[in-house]
Amino acid sequence: MSYDPTRILTDRTCRGFGTYTLRMRIHVAEHPLIAHKLTALRDRETDSPTFRRLADELVTLLAYEATRDVRVAPVDVETPVAPARGVRLAAPKPLVVPILRAGLGMLDGMVRLLPTAEVGFLGMVRDEGTLTASTYATRMPDDLSDRQCYVLDPMLATGGTLVAAIKLLADRGARDVTAICLLAAPEGLARVEEAFADFHLPVTVVTAAVDERLNEHGYIVPGLGDAGDRLYGVV
Ligand code: URA
Repeated sequence: MSYDPTRILTDRTCRGFGTYTLRMRIHVAEHPLIAHKLTALRDRETDSPTFRRLADELVTLLAYEATRDVRVAPVDVETPVAPARGVRLAAPKPLVVPILRAGLGMLDGMVRLLPTAEVGFLGMVRDEGTLTASTYATRMPDDLSDRQCYVLDPMLATGGTLVAAIKLLADRGARDVTAICLLAAPEGLARVEEAFADFHLPVTVVTAAVDERLNEHGYIVPGLGDAGDRLYGVV
């Protein structure tokens, strides 16, 4: 599957488009600190403790971009000086869904920014031969009506896992889904975009970078290797 990276429209690009309808929003977060942390993650010499810390910090930066459209409700408070109008997160609370195992390494960084969010868990594994994803564990509310969902998966490679995860959330009534990925491959973005092209559900992908391609083993090139192994060791 080929994908023309020049078709990738960031939020910044789409603001200028007026009536242009995006099928899927892709936000590539451009920031020197994000690029710095990502480079250290890519480095094969970076050990697991450092990798975990950097992934955690990077997710918090990506989460800041990913939650731009989180719903809030008006609220009145009293400052020591005068009444003030502000906002708080609206009900129902957002749901954060790390995809086990590598997505767990992104959870702390995400809930640091959204401490009142609820957390659901999805265990998915990729068959390294067929590159298809299967679900081995699900722990989340049956009814996600009107919930904003944030899926955490470090590597958007073939897109199979993310498509399956988003479909599961859509089946339970999610209002919209934002996937936060450290890295994405053009092939994976194309697959997710295609899967939800005519879908009722708004889907957004926020990532630190879009790499060149997938290799014959379904790994992102240049990527950073196996994110789960680099976070937790080879088990
Ligand atoms: N999963 C990973 O951990 N890394 C890749 O490059 C692709 C899938």
